[in-house]
Amino acid sequence: MNQFPDDELSDVKPTQKTTTAQTATAAATKTKQVVEEDLDEPQPKAAAAGGHAGKGNPPAAADEDDLDVDFGDEKLATRPNMLNRCRPDKGKAVRFALLPFIKPKSALNHFVELPGKKLTVRCLTPPNSTEAGYCCAKLGKDGELHVAALVLRYLNADLKTGGYEKGATIEWEVQYVDLTRSNYRAVSHLIDEMVEDNPNVNVYDIDIVMKHDPDRAFGYQFQRISQKARWKQNPQLVEEVKLAAEKFTKDDGKILKGRLGKKMNLQEWKALLAGVSAGAEEARLDDVEDL
Ligand SMILES: [Zn+2]
Repeated sequence: MNQFPDDELSDVKPTQKTTTAQTATAAATKTKQVVEEDLDEPQPKAAAAGGHAGKGNPPAAADEDDLDVDFGDEKLATRPNMLNRCRPDKGKAVRFALLPFIKPKSALNHFVELPGKKLTVRCLTPPNSTEAGYCCAKLGKDGELHVAALVLRYLNADLKTGGYEKGATIEWEVQYVDLTRSNYRAVSHLIDEMVEDNPNVNVYDIDIVMKHDPDRAFGYQFQRISQKARWKQNPQLVEEVKLAAEKFTKDDGKILKGRLGKKMNLQEWKALLAGVSAGAEEARLDDVEDL
């Protein structure tokens, strides 16, 4: 999969300017803010899975006949270009920092559930268009906006709070977060209070904790857990992270874009939905014709 042609995915920038309205929102959500941590001196330590960039792959021609492997080889067990999704299990928290090496990508998509098949497919409706594409009409539902952003996930942060003990060594992996429109808005507002003191601050400067929203059946809530992203405090770690992120930032983030859904043209959409009865709009029209 993932061999979608380059496309017109819009780069998105989390909003940074604070308006009075936004400040009000920030104040309203302030009660939910977790206690922020004091930063101590974190030591870099890449996680076994995906933490290190695949440096030093031997040339293909070298040692072609040596095919021996051992069980328990972490490198072999992990797909080399695997970009895992950063999200918490129910009742748990994950801690992450947005990575500044590539802009987040956004697109409309549909989650399609068919007998024996579940997949996310990019919507045919162009951004900002009022005319629904074939997919939206057939499914009776507009495509949903998603933003995919590259993050550093802290693998060994506290599973309940996202916190770290003083002096703890960071284990990490480059992953991505899939943000809905409201998630995107929430993340953008996490720095509102900080902007008042420092207009240059941005969302890439902080550490974020993501949890399931206890007030809703589904959905996530986002909190700022540190005004300074831990991984940025150690220059050596910054270099390691940069290197590990390269495979996801190359080709204008081809792998990251792929996480926004499979790209299909009209014919492919028609084939996919061939067995699906018409969506709400079309069904209503059919009813009218039947009268
Ligand atoms: Zn659509």
